[in-house]
Amino acid sequence: MSVARSRNWVASTGQGWKIYVFLSLMVVAALGLVGVIVFSQQPVVTGSPSASHAVACALTAAGAVPAAFLWLGVSLRCSKCNASVGWHVVRTSPAGEWWVMLATLVECPVCGGRRT
Ligand SMILES: [Zn+2]
Repeated sequence: MSVARSRNWVASTGQGWKIYVFLSLMVVAALGLVGVIVFSQQPVVTGSPSASHAVACALTAAGAVPAAFLWLGVSLRCSKCNASVGWHVVRTSPAGEWWVMLATLVECPVCGGRRT
């Protein structure tokens, strides 16, 4: 799936890089979860480096996911109606389909605007 397709609303409005920032935050969250798994495999003793690393990874993952959605909701906007398109799609689409809806947008779902 590419967000760089010219017919895609996100790409055609020059906001494709915002999707990559979102994806980068989700990768950070995934790495945080991997870190929790890796560091929790070692004997956990309160105050040990592995315990503090596991906690740091858990906090990173727990912070990166809401940060990613906050970024998507705040940054992805329509230049015509100023609607928060990212938040609109996440809020109104079925849980498992919001990403597909976002990736296949050809116009602003709020006002129908296409390019800036
Ligand atoms: Zn709009």
